[in-house]
This record gives sequence, C-alpha cells and structure tokens, in this order.
Amino acid sequence: MTKAFTKTDVVIVGAGPTGLACGIELQRRGIAAILFDKGCVVNSLYNYPTNMVFFTTPELLEIGGIPMTSMGEKPVRAEALKYYRRVADHFQLDVRQYEMVDRISGEDGNFTVHTAKGDYAAGKVILSTGYYDRPNFLNVPGEELPKVIHYYKEAHPYFNHDVAVIGGKNSAAITALELWWTGARVTLIHRRAALSDSIKYWIRPNIDNRIRNGEITAHFNSSLKQVTPQSIIVETPNGELTIGNDFVFAMTGYRPDTEFLAAHGITFDPDTQRPYTNPDTLESARKGLYLAGVLVAGMHTNEIFIENGRFHGGLIAEAIAARLLA
Ligand code: NAP
Repeated sequence: MTKAFTKTDVVIVGAGPTGLACGIELQRRGIAAILFDKGCVVNSLYNYPTNMVFFTTPELLEIGGIPMTSMGEKPVRAEALKYYRRVADHFQLDVRQYEMVDRISGEDGNFTVHTAKGDYAAGKVILSTGYYDRPNFLNVPGEELPKVIHYYKEAHPYFNHDVAVIGGKNSAAITALELWWTGARVTLIHRRAALSDSIKYWIRPNIDNRIRNGEITAHFNSSLKQVTPQSIIVETPNGELTIGNDFVFAMTGYRPDTEFLAAHGITFDPDTQRPYTNPDTLESARKGLYLAGVLVAGMHTNEIFIENGRFHGGLIAEAIAARLLA
C-alpha cells in the first residue's frame, strides 16, 4: 500500500495541552498545522491516576482563552479531559490520534514527517511530546516482572495485598495513602533521609501521620535491590531486609525522550543537559524545529508544567509567523 502524502505549514508532534496550545496559536495567525499523537488527545492526562485532583486551579490550565471550570477548587482528571476535548473540537484542530511519528527528515522550510500512515511535508516542526511516556527505571533485577508498576491508576485491585511504594515526592505520597486507605499493607521505600519538602501542604500531614502511627511502614535512606515474585529485597541502614510483596509501585518520576531529540539533530548543553533553544522563539539547534513544554527543560522535568508550558504556543507561533509570513 502506498503511503499518503500531505502538505501543511507546520507539524506538531504531541497533542497534549502544550501541543494543542501551539495549534491554536498558529491557527490564530493563519498558519495550518497537523498534530500527531501516538495515543489519544492529552494522552498523558488520560494515563494519570483515575481519581487525580490537579494541584492547580482551573484558570491556570486554560488554553486558547477558553475558560475552564471545575466543581471543586481544583479540577479532577475527568474535568481536564473533557475541557481539552472540547477545546480541540472548538478550534477544529487537525489532530491525528494514534499516529506515531517515526522520523523527521529534511530541513528548515522543507521537512518531511514520517508516520506509519503517511508522509507529511511541513515548513516547520514543533515537538511537544512531554515526558510521561518514559518512567525512570530502578534498574534492579526483577523490575521487568508484571507486578512492578510505573503508572498508578487506582487502589481497589490491591486491597488486602502487600505493596511497596518507591519514591519520596508527591506521587509516592498520594499512591501510598490511597493504597493504605483502600486496605493494602503499604511499605514506603525512599532513598533519602526524609520525604521531600515538595510534597503539597495538604498531603504532607496525612502521610507523616500514617508513618508515625505505623499504619504505613517507611524505610528511609533505603533502596530496592531486587524484586522476586513473592518478595522484595531492600537495602536499609540496618542491613538487608526481605519483605513479602505482591506489587511494587515505582513512583520514581518520568523523563523526556532525549534519544529521539538527539537523533533529530537537537543538541544539549553538556553541563545542564538542557537542549539548546533560543529563549525568545524556542527554536532548537536544528533550524526550523521548535521545542515546546517540558522538553525545553530537558531532564529538569520539575520546571515546566501545563501552567507555564501552555504559553510556549504563543511564543513559537509568533516566531513561525514572522518567518513564514515575512
Ligand atoms: P518526581 O517528582 O520526579 O519524584 C520521583 C521520586 O522518585 C523522588 O523522590 C526521587 O528521589 C525518586 N527516584 C527517582 N529515581 C529513583 C531511583 N532510580 N531510585 C529510587 N528513587 C528514585 O515524580 P512524581 O512524584 O511522580 O511527580 C512528577 C510530577 O508530577 C511532579 O511535577 C509532581 O509535582 C507532579 N504531580 C502532580 C500531581 C497532581 O497534580 N495531582 C500528583 C502527583 C505528581 P529524590 O527525592 O532523591 O529525587
């Protein structure tokens, strides 16, 4: 079967909130764009924990000037999914879902974006692929077992089971608490001396009290050494422990696909590991290829969120408009 060939002004890789914002801002400037996502629209949000409550108020998640509302002070995942679906629909964005970009060839003004379904010619390309697809692995024996989970969804299936939670920040705290109050026996393992100060003020007392009361067992300055079908081996300051275990939740964060960026000519500052981008335009070291959202920060994933990444669209669209429409 011959692949379809399509021409557009700009291809946007990644249809999360940042990619959608890029599409809207380009459209406002009369520039056509096709968005691709290997999953659904706002795929990362879809994969967030089922009952997730955002840390932020709805107006800080808005894109395209479309107001977002929520029942509570902070939106829940389902409200955000509905909002971004509605926004994509409202602006009639050309989003190709479940169409993964394999490769980008060509050069500024004359790129070709290759997917399994077709080849797409575009003058400019924006990468906004986020970071939620690639967990930080623990690299311990047994991590490949199906009982080791990097994406927590909900607690019900783990009722009356021995579960371990690895990590010491917000996801680890929330996961440990939800599992505990659903009736799992929870052991929290963190490599540092204490939980992180970045844990939100409304979560922190709860997790601290559960640990103090012995309801959640915590091992600090400790690391997971091995996972077996029935147990985990943990290195603690008091020596190695073997703990009965049914499931491990590795809440160890996520990282962007820097290999894809490097393979496409994007270079990084060797000291900071940040990709080189022009701060005014977010154009990368590869001319005509722009980075948006968390990719701009490279491995510093705790610097860019929807709240600030959503403004990258305006910056990039302005720069592209200046070049394409000059
Ligand atoms: P994170 O902030 O990256 O934290 C990862 C945790 O895992 C850290 O405690 C880290 O240790 C530990 N870790 C990383 N690699 C490890 C390894 N190889 N071995 C052992 N421990 C390791 O990840 P996150 O908590 O999933 O949060 C990700 C982002 O989502 C954050 O921006 C967070 O604020 C956000 N978030 C939002 C919500 C919400 O909106 N409701 C909920 C949860 C999280 P160190 O402490 O030593 O670095």
